[in-house]
Amino acid sequence: MIFHDRVRDIDSALWLTPIAQIFERMDAAYDKVSEAYGFHCRGCADNCCLTRFHHHTLAETLYLKRGFEGLSDDLKVELKDKARDVVEKTRKADEKGETPRIMCPLNHEGLCMLYVYRPMICRLHGLAHELIKPGQSPVLSEGCGLFTEKTRSMDYIPFDRTPFYVDMALLEQNLRKVSGFTDRLKHTVAEIILL
Ligand code: SF4
Repeated sequence: MIFHDRVRDIDSALWLTPIAQIFERMDAAYDKVSEAYGFHCRGCADNCCLTRFHHHTLAETLYLKRGFEGLSDDLKVELKDKARDVVEKTRKADEKGETPRIMCPLNHEGLCMLYVYRPMICRLHGLAHELIKPGQSPVLSEGCGLFTEKTRSMDYIPFDRTPFYVDMALLEQNLRKVSGFTDRLKHTVAEIILL
């Protein structure tokens, strides 16, 4: 059975408002820290939309698909063609043992066409951040190249991703428990568009 049919009966009350609320908190936290650095993610040659990110949650998948379904039929056809092209080019890069740097099909002239519905990593990428596991010291990670270059002389401003990962994990756990959906997911945005 195709993905669409398998998830059609999942009650949107289980994921739609909950994920929108998590993303709202995530965006607010990101904006606050980014503002404090004076770092703004514009006009970057090392565009993170060229990076192959995999998305693993059903909640993010359903949310992005919800945004996609709201587009016009013509646009959907166009974006599906682009997504097929991205998947094919990625496959060829993999075959050659190269790291694919292929623009996400949703990036149009530097802007995300489904900005409101974009997955978690598209929201969090860029800033230096930390993750805190219970009983352990925070694990710090660098931001993207442009961030590192622009903030070299500045002190780290805490940006803790942990509460957002926890919220997403709890949402996903509940969604899967109630819906009975058990597949492991690992898709790029292009692949989600084609599901
Ligand atoms: S979904 Fe949007 S923000 Fe994420 S990689 Fe694609 S264009 Fe960029």
